[in-house]
Amino acid sequence: MKKTILTGLRPTGNLHLGHYFGACQNYLKLQDDYEFYLEIADVQALTDNFNNPEKVRVNVYEITKDLLAIGLDPNKVNFFIQSKIPEIAELTVYYGNLVTVARLQRNPTVKNEIAQKKELFGNSGESITYGFLGYPVSQAADITAFKGELVPVGEDQLPLIEQCREIVRKFNSIYGETLLEPVPYLSENKRIKGLDGNEKMGKSLGNAIYLVDDEDTIKKKVMGALTDKNKIKKDDPANPDVCMVHYYHKLINSYENTKIVEEECRKGCRGCVQCKKELIVAMNNFLKPIQDRRKKYEENPELVEEILNSGTKKAQEKAKNVMNDVKKAMKIDY
Ligand code: ATP
Ligand code: MG
Repeated sequence: MKKTILTGLRPTGNLHLGHYFGACQNYLKLQDDYEFYLEIADVQALTDNFNNPEKVRVNVYEITKDLLAIGLDPNKVNFFIQSKIPEIAELTVYYGNLVTVARLQRNPTVKNEIAQKKELFGNSGESITYGFLGYPVSQAADITAFKGELVPVGEDQLPLIEQCREIVRKFNSIYGETLLEPVPYLSENKRIKGLDGNEKMGKSLGNAIYLVDDEDTIKKKVMGALTDKNKIKKDDPANPDVCMVHYYHKLINSYENTKIVEEECRKGCRGCVQCKKELIVAMNNFLKPIQDRRKKYEENPELVEEILNSGTKKAQEKAKNVMNDVKKAMKIDY
């Protein structure tokens, strides 16, 4: 029998290169060999976008189109909408008893995101909602509702998987062996940096290159990228290891081209403007087939609707079965 994968994305914006190289490339690699559930996490997106439901709704469709555009096959991957699986909400309530508030507050991912929000919006600690603090519990419900065994994610998500494993162990020790402990699956590029030099490219960080970005937008973003600050003149030798343009050449350009970039940069016979121009070309070449594939779904939105409906139906069946096991174990199978 095939093992099960559960993973998800928050529909709060389009897919960016951090998603692609940090997580989605693995979805592509794994889609043939697993029973694959891909959650469009609208409920989780609402935890910090509850006052902007339109944004979440629009992005459910946007992100599904992006995922299809990168080459995920809807015959192999069950795309589903989180809010259509009430079992997830049900499990979240039961798991709420198995985790302390202190443990949630100590979760490094949650801590990081709270710090990031404070920096962006100057929020005081009091404005963190119960729902937001509890989203790792709901994420544990996402994974276990499908008995997910493997979870392809970026590095920033590891503490959330660890929290899920703790909840599973606690559940099983109290109610008997019922749930599976999931294992994270990381990509070679665990964390994709931003063009601004930030350790992470992220939607909320405002430093993302989106798969839907057009040529003008790519040009603007790449031209503003962080390079070696010590390089003042065009022919100063520089250090490619601290340059984000080189970092993205490595990700996107061919091995041979990247070698040339590196050598010329070190020798001081390559200007940053030229180097950025070459990256723009490579980036557009990389994005072109993705954007071409996306067109089919833009022109036929009913296809996207069908894919979401049929994936959601499969997910509903699976979650129902798992919920029956959980209720039996908890002696609430009236
Ligand atoms: P937000 O800022 O709204 O949290 P995000 O850009 O972090 O958005 P998510 O939807 O939270 O994106 O993440 C979806 C998946 O993509 C997760 O598995 C996450 O680890 C991965 N991911 C996102 N950004 C990166 C990145 N820069 N490098 C590696 N993986 C990433
Ligand atoms: Mg995130």
